[in-house]
Parts: sequence; C-alpha cells; structure tokens
Amino acid sequence: MRTALRTAGVVALSVFLAPAAHAEKSNVRLGDEVVPVQQSVHLRLDPDAASYTGSVAIEIEVRRVTESFVLHAEGMEINVAAIVGTPVELTVQREADDLVRLSAEPALRPGTHRLEMDFQADYGRQSTGLYQTFYEDQGFLFTQFQADDAREAFPCFDEPAFKIPFDITLTVPQQHLAIAGTPVSNERVRDGWRTTTFRRTKPLPTYLLAVAVGPMETVEIPGMSVPGRVVFPKGKAHLTKVAVETTPPLLAALEEWFGSPHPYAKLDLIAVPEFWAGAMENAGAITYKDRYLLIDREQSSADLLRWHTVVTAHELAHQWFGNLVTMEWWDDLWLNESFADWMAGKMTDQVFPEYRHTVSDLQRTQGNMAVDARPSTRPIRRPIKSTDQLMEGIGLTYAKGRTVLGMFEYWMGAENFRAGVVSYIEANRWGNAVADDLWRALDGASEFDVSGALAGFLEQPGFPLLHLEYLGERTVRLSQTRFRNYGIDVEPLSWRVPVVLKWSDGERVRSRSVLLDSESAEFELDAVGPVQWVHPNGGGTGYYRWTTAADRLSDLARVSAKAFTPRERVEFLGNLGALLDAGVVTGATYVSTLAEFRYDPDPLVLSGVLAAVDKVHGSFVPMDLEDAFAVWVRSTLTPAMDRVGRTPGRNEDPTVSAARAELVAVLADWGRDAALRDWCRELAERYLAGETPEDPSMTSTALAVAALD
Ligand SMILES: [Zn+2]
Repeated sequence: MRTALRTAGVVALSVFLAPAAHAEKSNVRLGDEVVPVQQSVHLRLDPDAASYTGSVAIEIEVRRVTESFVLHAEGMEINVAAIVGTPVELTVQREADDLVRLSAEPALRPGTHRLEMDFQADYGRQSTGLYQTFYEDQGFLFTQFQADDAREAFPCFDEPAFKIPFDITLTVPQQHLAIAGTPVSNERVRDGWRTTTFRRTKPLPTYLLAVAVGPMETVEIPGMSVPGRVVFPKGKAHLTKVAVETTPPLLAALEEWFGSPHPYAKLDLIAVPEFWAGAMENAGAITYKDRYLLIDREQSSADLLRWHTVVTAHELAHQWFGNLVTMEWWDDLWLNESFADWMAGKMTDQVFPEYRHTVSDLQRTQGNMAVDARPSTRPIRRPIKSTDQLMEGIGLTYAKGRTVLGMFEYWMGAENFRAGVVSYIEANRWGNAVADDLWRALDGASEFDVSGALAGFLEQPGFPLLHLEYLGERTVRLSQTRFRNYGIDVEPLSWRVPVVLKWSDGERVRSRSVLLDSESAEFELDAVGPVQWVHPNGGGTGYYRWTTAADRLSDLARVSAKAFTPRERVEFLGNLGALLDAGVVTGATYVSTLAEFRYDPDPLVLSGVLAAVDKVHGSFVPMDLEDAFAVWVRSTLTPAMDRVGRTPGRNEDPTVSAARAELVAVLADWGRDAALRDWCRELAERYLAGETPEDPSMTSTALAVAALD
C-alpha cells in the first residue's frame, strides 16, 4: 500500500522493455563476404487475415567467390529464391530458427547481384516483428523490429551495421490506411486492393523500418520543417491536440541543438493499441503505446503530460542520435538510449520549463544510485554477444548513462559538449559509429581528458564518495574512496572525478570545474575574503556522493534556500540520505539537517523532503513508535500543506500539483491526518460517480487513500 501511495501518479515507463519470449535467436554475426546494398520489400497485407505473402529483392555485393551465405528469415516459408539474370541455381536450407543458408551452383562471382525471394508467413501475435492486433473488434498491423525482429517480417540482413536504402511497397484492402517511414510516391487501386509505393528511404538499418495498416485516420501536425501527422485508430481525433501542440517546438529545439534539420522526409507519430515498448524511434514513423500519444488534457495528471513530452523528445532525439548515426553493434545500445534520455530531459526543460523535468527526475536518480551502491552492481559498458543480454540491468544502465552524460556536460560546459556531439554526428551522418568515436569528439571539444575520465564511470561499477576538508581560508582538499553502504564490503576502486566546486567568499558565489585524478588533491579557491562555505557538487549534476565535517554540512543546509538552486537542494537531500546509509552521518545529524528544509518553498525540494520522511520511517520507526511518528510527520509537513493548499491555483505550476498529491498521501497515511483522509474519500466518491475531477493529479492519491480505511 505504501509503495503504491508514494508512487501514485508516477507513470512507469521504459522505452525499451523486454518483449514476450519468441523463437530462439541464432546469435551468429553475418560476416562480410556478402553484404546488402539496397533492398526492396513488397508485402500484401490484410489485417483481418492470419497470414500474408511478400517478396524481397536485395541488391547484394559479393566480395569473394561464394558457394553459400546466410541471411535472416525467421518463421517464414520461402517459396522462390533466385539470382536474377544468371544461370545460378539457389537452394535454400534452414540453418537456425532465424537464419537461412542460400547455396549457389555454380558459385557466385564477386560483384553486385540481385537476389529475389518470395515468401509467406503468419503475423506475429506478441507485439514483435510484423504483428496483428485487434482493437474494438477490428484488425490492425504494426511492427516492432528493435532489436532483432525485422527478420520475423521478411528476409533481410538484420544487423545495425547494414545501413542501406529500402523501397517499401504495401498492397492492402482498399479501405485501410497504409503507412511506412517515407512519403507516398505512387498509389493505384485494383480489385479492391490498393498498392502504395513509398519513396526510397535514406540508408537505414532494418530495426528502424516500420509499417502500419488498418482502419486508421490522421491529423496533420502543422509548423514543422517536414510534413507531420498523428496516426490513430478511427474515432480518436479529439485526443490528438496535445501531441499536435507538443511536437513542433520540441523538433525545432532539437534541430537548433544539432544544427541540422530533421533527417527524414516526414514525421508520423503512430498510436498503437498493443505495444510492449513505450515508444519506438522508427525513422519517419515513430510508434507509441497509444496512451502516451492520445491524451485528454482535461483528464490527465501533470505527470502524464510531462511524460508524454519526455517520450516525444526522446524519440525525436534518436532521429539524429541512433538513426542518422547508428551504433555499429548492440554493445553501444546503452549509449543510444542514455543519450536520448539525457537529451529528452534537456529539451523538455528548455521547451516546457514548467514541468521542471530534470529536477523532478533527480529523485529517480537517487534511487538508481542506491542500486548502483550494491555489491551486485555491474559496469554500464560490457560486451554484448547475444541480443538476449541487451535486457540485463537496462534500468540502471540507461539511468546511470544519462546521469553521467549530464555530469560531463555540466562539467565541460554545455557549449563544448554540444560542439563535440555535433562534430561526431557530422562526421558519421548516414553511417555507423562506436562509442569511442564520440569520446574522441568530446576530447577535441574540451581542455580536459574527457575520455579518460568517462572510462572510470562506464567501465567500473559503483561511484566515488568524495571527502571535502577545509585546509585554510582559501584551500580545500578533496579525497575519494568507493561509496559503500554501512557494513558492506565492495572492491576498492578509484575514478578520475569531474568535480564542480561552488563556494562563497562572503561577497559572491563562484564555481570552477576541476578534475580529481588521484586519491587526494588540494585546490586553491579564488576568493576575496575567507571562504564561507564550499559545495563539492556544484550544479547537483555529479554522479558521486560527497561529505564534509558535520558542522560544515549544517552550514551548507542553513544557506541552502538562499545560495543553492532547487536542483542542488534536491541533490543535497538525496546525498544526505546516502550518507546515512553509509554510516557517515548519524541519525541525529540526518534528522536535524533535514529540518532545515521543511520551510523550503520549492515543491520539488518538498518532494525530496517527503522521500527523506520515507527514509526516517524505514530507518528509525518500529511498530510501537508509529503514533509518535505520525505526530512528527504532521508537525514537519503541515506547514507545507498549508502553503500548497487543497485547491489548485489557476494555471498552477504542474510541479505544485504533483507535490500536493504526494504530500497528501504521506500526511494521510503516515501522518494519519483525519481531515485529509475524509477529503480524499470525498474526492474518490465523486470520481467514481463519474464527475470530472477539478484536479486530475489528485485522483490516484485520493483513490489510494480512500482504500486505506
Ligand atoms: Zn530510445
């Protein structure tokens, strides 16, 4: 119950979750003797049938005399295979569930050949490959190819390094809409079937192709550099307004950041009724789980609106990072996803600052760091031999990846970081690259050895704990150990830590980026008078924990509301909790330092205080002290409740709405606040009776609190 309450209103989301189990993948790399140059795919698709037919024509480059070669084709029957215009006889043998071997007699000579294959297959039913789904009793077809399921839809060279242009043609019952990743170049209707030929794609890996067929309609998204539409099952047009408004400014902001226009000729956002992934960045045809795209603004919580924006920004960021430049192999998928996550936060903050997304998200980072502190944690970067391994520990991997990228951006300077990324994109556009290419580009854009410092965070598990000592009026010493929880043994490690020092000399607040590249180092601070205080995680972006003497910690807490940004205050509270876990501060220091934040006016800092109240409960409150704890909770949090009130102000900041819901949950549950419980029960009854809620952000809390009694 309590877990449910504390997460009420939070949308659980990952854009790359594990699909249902399917046939065994062979995990064989295709090699480079025979490689694809261009591929045409023609599919005849009836969304109300159980199976389909298709043909492919693949222009292949044969690099050595070849008697046989393999390509991907999973769960389909291949009826015809031929090398056009040659006397070569091809025989097809199944080599594995997802691989066929083509043997040529006589052997293929080096050069370019055209391979044609006809096949038939059943639609997938588990949201992978080309799959069928029924919505309101009507059949639809969608695709989800990442990571290795294009091979379920048609024969292909299904690896990300094979980036080639595709010609897609779809023949579908005349009444249905057919979508692919490029604009239509030609359409003709015959005997009740419409054949749509789409324009040739830019070079793409198979995993970024998509098609959609069914009783769908579209709404135009005006105001973008390319034509755009929301695509959805018929009858849902009234739910497209949010996406139509959100997408153009996000796309424009990304185009400005990357310094180049959206790379593809159009941009469709497709609502998919059944979809295990949150969303997928297919070039020109982004698919979404429908509830993240089709949104009723009046009925939606602030969190859902925020996450809709973040998901869109994430998928749009991939159009450059992932699509225009694609990882060579899946061992860099973490970078693909971490970058898109990081960029989504940055763009959401820039375009929709009212969501204050990255400060809100810092709370999640605290939880991720707690996981990364465990002895069982693993490094982000590790070899991926089979695509099954892609799913191992992805939650922490992406979260740590985006936080580490954010740390380096802040430390080396946003403009330097951008210059490095843009030069990497420009050098590799339409092609493939590896993570080292990006690190080299960042080195070139900074005075620091960025790649050397990054390596420690990517290739080692865990993170450092920095200890700050004041050596004189203007000198501090930083030293590092590996962070560990109290009583837990972990392997000792050290990092080259990018640190932003922030300090006050009594006249002004200054900051400076330094690199702690040894166990311990001293830093001279530029100051007019004696240094008053030093914060060793300026900006609150560091992926590390830090501590200093207890009285210095209290000094920092006291100046926090005036001297620190909300992000730094939220980080301060998360760091304080980690120090308690590590046994570095006592419970008394924890509770007294926490008290400095109870009048903090910022709703996101309030969220941090609520998380800390959680921690106090978990750490110190046995069953027989629950009554005393309830009194403490009420005395600590009632001032905040009085401040935010029950009724949302007109055009209220969405973070206030979200904080109110969390605050009510904690006060009603642990604080046993009878008046708030009554109020929640009343809200829940009105909601269940079908009334439109005045404040949709309160709905899930009200329902959860009402269920307490
Ligand atoms: Zn992604």
